[in-house]
Amino acid sequence: MHCARIRTALSARLDGEELPPGLTGRRLEEHLSGCADCREWQARARALAAGIGRAAAPGEGDTASVDALLARLRPGSAPG
Ligand SMILES: [Zn+2]
Repeated sequence: MHCARIRTALSARLDGEELPPGLTGRRLEEHLSGCADCREWQARARALAAGIGRAAAPGEGDTASVDALLARLRPGSAPG
């Protein structure tokens, strides 16, 4: 299982979207239990999502900005 696929699914789960075909919540947890990189990624994504959630007005679903921020977390777009 590639980390990129896991992170796509984690992002979807954070956004309250359906997981990609073939992936389940249990599958994600199993990967996270053995992959510190993805655990850290999820923690950062969660923190970002929580910050956006506080800033956004209730009922306003602006997921485009969430996607943009999550994209910055993906490998290759930024050092470190
Ligand atoms: Zn991973």
